[in-house]
Amino acid sequence: MPPAMPRASPAKTPLHGTAAAPRRARLMSRDQAAAFIAAIAQHNPAPETELLYTDPFSLLVAVVMSAQTTDAAVNKVTPALFAAAPTPAAMAALGAEGIGGHIRRIGLWQAKAKNIALLAARLVAEHGGEVPAERAALEALPGVGRKTANVVLNVIFGEATMAVDTHIFRLGNRTGLAPGRTTRAVEDGLVRRIPAAMLRDAHHWLILHGRYICRARAPDCWRCPALSHCNYKDKVLAPP
Ligand code: SF4
Repeated sequence: MPPAMPRASPAKTPLHGTAAAPRRARLMSRDQAAAFIAAIAQHNPAPETELLYTDPFSLLVAVVMSAQTTDAAVNKVTPALFAAAPTPAAMAALGAEGIGGHIRRIGLWQAKAKNIALLAARLVAEHGGEVPAERAALEALPGVGRKTANVVLNVIFGEATMAVDTHIFRLGNRTGLAPGRTTRAVEDGLVRRIPAAMLRDAHHWLILHGRYICRARAPDCWRCPALSHCNYKDKVLAPP
């Protein structure tokens, strides 16, 4: 019986569209894909993000900050930042320098501070200080790409999007769930193959499964609840 899983966090490691795909497995059948997702979901029926946020704006900022940075590191700096600038207008007024003063402990802080100041100003100027619910408008914001937009659309607006991070990219290929050479190919495969009713939460379940069980260096197949549904050929069937 695998251990209870912690809550999920939004996809975080940025991958480029041309990222090298890990070794691929035979494509799962649709029934097999549904059974796989049901198996990894069984201990965590209502997954949530680990990032601290209170509203759409603070989630958007937290996700922008989480690129190549752990949720834990982001969570250490956001409370003070959001206390100093709780709204897009206040964040824009704080400016890149002021924001940078709060987030120096996270990776790429200078670029992130600049983007957060710019996106806050854009929210004020173009969206009445609100986070837009449309993908195109989100992706037009500084520092916001498809993956960040997918997280916001999923967590805030309840859309069944699939933000492909390094864990989901690996899982899609390794297990046969949605093999693909690019993050977009894996995303499209997952959206096509995972039953619609499971798709929104599948984003979180897959991240957790990749982070804690189907890990990059050596998957813990011996304690994997989806073992019998997985097409990976080199399963690790005993603890190291
Ligand atoms: S059986 Fe192994 S490779 Fe397959 S999903 Fe589980 S941990 Fe990953």
